[in-house]
Amino acid sequence: MNTNRDPLKPRHFASDNYAGICPEAWTAMAEANTRHEVSYGDDTWTQKASDLLREVFETDCEVYFVFNGTSANSLSLATLCQSYHSVLCHELSHIETSECGAPEFFANGSKILVLPGAEGKVTPAGIEHAAHRRNDIHYPKPRVLSLTQATEVGTIYSVAELHALTATARGCGLRVHMDGARFANAVARLNVPPKEITWKAGVDVLCFGGSKNGLAVGEAVVFFDRELAREFDYRCKQGGQLASKMRFLSAPWVGLLKDGAWLRHARHSNAMAQRLEAGLRGLAGVRITYPVESNAVFVTLPAAVEKQLYQRGWKFYTGVITGAESRLMCSWDTTPEDVDAFVADLRELTA
Ligand SMILES: *Cc1c(COP(=O)(O)O)cnc(C)c1O
Repeated sequence: MNTNRDPLKPRHFASDNYAGICPEAWTAMAEANTRHEVSYGDDTWTQKASDLLREVFETDCEVYFVFNGTSANSLSLATLCQSYHSVLCHELSHIETSECGAPEFFANGSKILVLPGAEGKVTPAGIEHAAHRRNDIHYPKPRVLSLTQATEVGTIYSVAELHALTATARGCGLRVHMDGARFANAVARLNVPPKEITWKAGVDVLCFGGSKNGLAVGEAVVFFDRELAREFDYRCKQGGQLASKMRFLSAPWVGLLKDGAWLRHARHSNAMAQRLEAGLRGLAGVRITYPVESNAVFVTLPAAVEKQLYQRGWKFYTGVITGAESRLMCSWDTTPEDVDAFVADLRELTA
């Protein structure tokens, strides 16, 4: 039982943010800690990290570093909206289900309008419907389409899907926001230059996640339309998101970006999810409920089996995103041995 696992360093499948800090980020953080630097983002690390992001996206984007994804999403949506506007997103979206109303709060009351859609994805028809359902003054005027890439259920919008969605959004007069808490996993999966699924595909603002890909804290808000970034620095400061020692948010990004560690980690966590899926497929009473395209595997398990897995010390969430499924997340530090140990336990319990 659980014998393959080092009890001093247990790894779990509950969330990719259960994992620690990746070595590349840790090393950069230590380097940033060797001397004094200018505060509030006017430092060499923040300059370097921003330049690296401009290289990654192959465009002159505007970049801000904030502490977490909720603030990245909320502040960027607040920038796109007036208080009487609305944001269209999938009904499972993090901005709707998991940010405690922060987007509406920071946008002074802009309303989130949820759209249905299979496999965690919105559709052009869904956007058209929500945008044109009403055009009178009594309805909060649709202003933004928010897409999550990878989605909350681990699926990925293809390049073609993104083009279709953003073209529809433009036709409806909407700006496009992307919640990219797991953007790296999407790039790794699609194997395209990042520009192909962002600005070239009609995305105006990307919240590029770092925490779930090996940083301690920190997400990058990337504006592809620089005009939209006007006074975003004030919004960050007012929202409590201007780090005085900004270099410790930005230096880890330098570590992650400079030799492509961000993609290596994402490819690895995606590969671990593939391995996990392969191991689970065919076990009695275990059903995979969404296509495994990033670092998440959603399954339904017999209740008794789930309980026994918990008793054996495994941690994972059931029913947090969707109804009854258990969500198994792989991270940059998940090992093949972790996956195999989990599968072995599950095989034994379902035999
Ligand atoms: C984790 C996550 C975020 C960010 O959450 P924070 O806890 O605020 O950092 C945003 N969007 C999605 C889809 C996420 O999974």
